[in-house]
Amino acid sequence: MRLAILSGKGGTGKTTVAVNLAVAFASARATVYADYDVEEPNGFIFLQPQIVSTRVVTSTYPVIGEECEPCGVCSAACTSHALAEVGGRVLVFPEICHGCGTCTLACPRGAIREKARPIGELRSGTARDGLACSEGILREGETLATTVIQRLREFAERDAGRGAQGSIVIADCPPGSSCEVMHAAEGSDLALLVAEPTAFGLHDLGLAVRLARHLELPAAIFVNKDDGSGFIDRYATQAGLPIVGRLPFDLEIARVTARGALLMDDRRYADTFIELAAAVSGLAGRSRTA
Ligand code: SF4
Ligand code: SF4
Repeated sequence: MRLAILSGKGGTGKTTVAVNLAVAFASARATVYADYDVEEPNGFIFLQPQIVSTRVVTSTYPVIGEECEPCGVCSAACTSHALAEVGGRVLVFPEICHGCGTCTLACPRGAIREKARPIGELRSGTARDGLACSEGILREGETLATTVIQRLREFAERDAGRGAQGSIVIADCPPGSSCEVMHAAEGSDLALLVAEPTAFGLHDLGLAVRLARHLELPAAIFVNKDDGSGFIDRYATQAGLPIVGRLPFDLEIARVTARGALLMDDRRYADTFIELAAAVSGLAGRSRTA
């Protein structure tokens, strides 16, 4: 079973929900937490896994060989504009190359070789109760977040046990509704949308709902910093989406998370995530059998 934890923007408490939900599941069943927020992963701050494996994520870029007789074919074939013919030479811009290999195939003289360059890293380890944890980290200045996300999906969900009997994957997706989020969320059994009861929060929730619908994912809402206004509740009723949990607007929660501590370790909040685990398992299970 795979749960995508989403939010229309950063700072809604998405990772707080994801890590505490992962810990709530891990006490009862095989669980994988994967941090797909590759530009700013911070789930490991809370989970403190013991790292057992790291691997470099690479992408390829073209290197133009001496066989080249400038003809414009490769630069015309590159839709990423990572090649330019200037003054009788082909210039390569590796930072914007997607490593698709089109130019290599297009070159009539076989003058292009492909070279690998590091763009990020994957780390994995084990936290309490055997919780398998993985994260992807995009190198500073790099733009190929989706490549790191795709490698993390293979790495985290193959090696860490997706498909094992009764196992669950908590995919802590990037914030927003970009292409990267879609790569991280697609194929999940349920999208859990974390939202705050503010005008901006409602707008961003709408984006997350649109994304979940585009990916044809069943969705449910978790209300963070709930002030009792019923703001999100009214939207959820209109949209036909269930609210499966909520945390109150409470400075003490901010203090606990600012220390890097888990709400699951605080008796006042642990039940919220145990009940959330039961609710989302039921919804995801129903969507799988529907
Ligand atoms: S590998 Fe693809 S993106 Fe990179 S330069 Fe060649 S055609 Fe462009
Ligand atoms: S397609 Fe090949 S021969 Fe033509 S400019 Fe590019 S590298 Fe040179």
